[in-house]
Amino acid sequence: MLKTLRDLPQIQTLLDQPLIKKLEAQLGHAQTVAALRGIIDQARAELLDGAEVDLPAFDSYQFADQVKDIINSANASSLKPVINATGILIHTNLGRARMAPEAVEAMQAIAATPSNLELDLNTGKRGSRHTHVEELICALTGAEAAVVVNNCAAAVLLSLMATAAGRNVVASRSELIEIGGSFRLPDVIAQSGAMLREVGATNKTRLSDYAAAINEDTAVLLKSHTSNFKIVGFTASPERRDLAQLAKENDVILMEDLGSGVLIDLAQYGLVDEPVVADILKSGVDLVMFSGDKLLGGPQAGIIAGRADIIDDLKSHPLMRAVRIDKLSLAALEATLRLYRPPHDPTLKIPVLQMLSEPLETIRQRAHELSHKLTSLGIIDVEVFESACQVGGGTLPEQDVASFAVSLTLPAMSPDQFAAQLRQSATPVIGRIKNARTIFDLRTVRAAEVPLIVAAIAKILSP
Ligand SMILES: *Cc1c(COP(=O)(O)O)cnc(C)c1O
Repeated sequence: MLKTLRDLPQIQTLLDQPLIKKLEAQLGHAQTVAALRGIIDQARAELLDGAEVDLPAFDSYQFADQVKDIINSANASSLKPVINATGILIHTNLGRARMAPEAVEAMQAIAATPSNLELDLNTGKRGSRHTHVEELICALTGAEAAVVVNNCAAAVLLSLMATAAGRNVVASRSELIEIGGSFRLPDVIAQSGAMLREVGATNKTRLSDYAAAINEDTAVLLKSHTSNFKIVGFTASPERRDLAQLAKENDVILMEDLGSGVLIDLAQYGLVDEPVVADILKSGVDLVMFSGDKLLGGPQAGIIAGRADIIDDLKSHPLMRAVRIDKLSLAALEATLRLYRPPHDPTLKIPVLQMLSEPLETIRQRAHELSHKLTSLGIIDVEVFESACQVGGGTLPEQDVASFAVSLTLPAMSPDQFAAQLRQSATPVIGRIKNARTIFDLRTVRAAEVPLIVAAIAKILSP
């Protein structure tokens, strides 16, 4: 028991203990000193606070174990798996889409060995990294050509820079979006060196507004998917077909930032309003950009698809090198895109689509399984209820997906305290809190993760 500051040992005294000496030899001087300093600093703070400090004897195994635990947790990965029980399928803070095992295997294979990333195996000459996915993207979207960059934000920036720098970009006032992480379309347009020419009103923009804004300085008509909000009521915007016609007549490019970009129609799951990339290109849009890790269900990437002459300009633009996709993401993207083609069924193979299309009854059963296991831990106030999931990732606002969730309260702990402890679990569990109850939504939790949630809670209840 330490009672006064005078009882605090010198770091050197601790380092001279045989067990600590052994640790120092194994784990290094710097880490050992840092851990000891941490313990002593905390003890000092507690003593200054008027508390007594209970530390094991400095020459004990117990003390050495404490030091070792501190060093080990300092060495643990900062980036680690968590369980997404939030009910938000594509959660940007939680790394967006899970990838399919096929995509993970492809990454692993390419990570560990050299590859033909930029080597044409037919000619033996330098190849392009874009060739590995271009045909696939074209086949899935009907585009003439395609190119892939680091993310959708880079795709938009590069596309504008290559087509509209020093000229005008016409965009509707209803579509000047901000998405998370300070991506604001007007700022991106400014960064590209183009001038934004806003048209229409917040709720209504007509074809004639676009037409009136076009002059010899106009390079691009830019549409963007208002992916994280909805303007409802007295609204209007022109059909893509009509905009495409207008763009063609005036020899300007019609471009659309889709954000999520889906390759299959999600209407069968009750999700409307998320336009299918192929349909958009068919309606005459010259160039579309969309993310790889939203509803597509792959790695972080920005896919640009459309007219071959524009794609060619993008490929040779100086910014391309700075925003190019890395080989691991490219490997994962190729594998993900292949899962959209026969004989595969993407709704069974791509985790995001799998979660979206999973029957409600299966989710209900998983919720009951979790609820029973939590009751077995002695938690009394546990309920299963029908909940509503969100797609997230700035897609499909207002459109809920039916789900089942477990809600609970603990007598000894507030929901905030409980959430904090769940975040510190070996596999952190991220749920949500509503009406002072902790909620775990089961559409975003896989069956194999249920025991991990139970283990985390068991440990919190009896550490
Ligand atoms: C998500 C989104 C982006 C940015 O995509 P990242 O891949 O995160 O860079 C751009 N535009 C829209 C409309 C989006 O929804």
